[in-house]
Amino acid sequence: TPYSDYIKSVIRTVRDWPQPGVNFRDITPLMQQKAAFRKLIDSFVHRYQEVQIDAIAAIDARGFIVGAPLAYELGASFVPVRKKGKLPFKTLSETYKLEYGEATVELHADAFNPGNRILVIDDLIATGGTMLAAANLIKRLGGEVVECAAIIDLPELGGSAAIEHAGFSVFSVCEFS
Ligand code: IMP
Repeated sequence: TPYSDYIKSVIRTVRDWPQPGVNFRDITPLMQQKAAFRKLIDSFVHRYQEVQIDAIAAIDARGFIVGAPLAYELGASFVPVRKKGKLPFKTLSETYKLEYGEATVELHADAFNPGNRILVIDDLIATGGTMLAAANLIKRLGGEVVECAAIIDLPELGGSAAIEHAGFSVFSVCEFS
């Protein structure tokens, strides 16, 4: 997008967090800078405003920060994909592997209607496990995944390629290597 470099410039890298060797990409400065936050949401709005989208499925928790204003702007509904144990009603769940151990994401069984067109959104794609699990949940519930969108992709970790290999389209505003 025209604002990718600007948006990337206000994302902070925190070295050795949460553990040695990890470069954590921190989006809090991007949200603090009101002009940058607006350009970020506008970038997603611009990409999807001519596309039919029934619901934004946003991933717990940083996906909510971009998913909610985007749903509002597009006139779409908002559906949370949450970490295990947070959703009160009947859920579908998907467990995936992490570097150490595993994680589970959940979706309410009545989150949308079969055939609905769903945009999946999160802040960042690393190994792609979280985004792919969310996209699989949407499919299992009969939704059509329009695209998997993120602010940041880390292409060297192969996550976005794996998501595409599974048959989903991927979009990110910027990339870090
Ligand atoms: P993945 O499942 O390996 O693709 O990891 C992506 C998930 O972990 C997303 O929900 C991100 O919020 C989180 N995550 C991993 N690395 C970072 C980072 O450097 N900054 C912010 N979030 C991260």
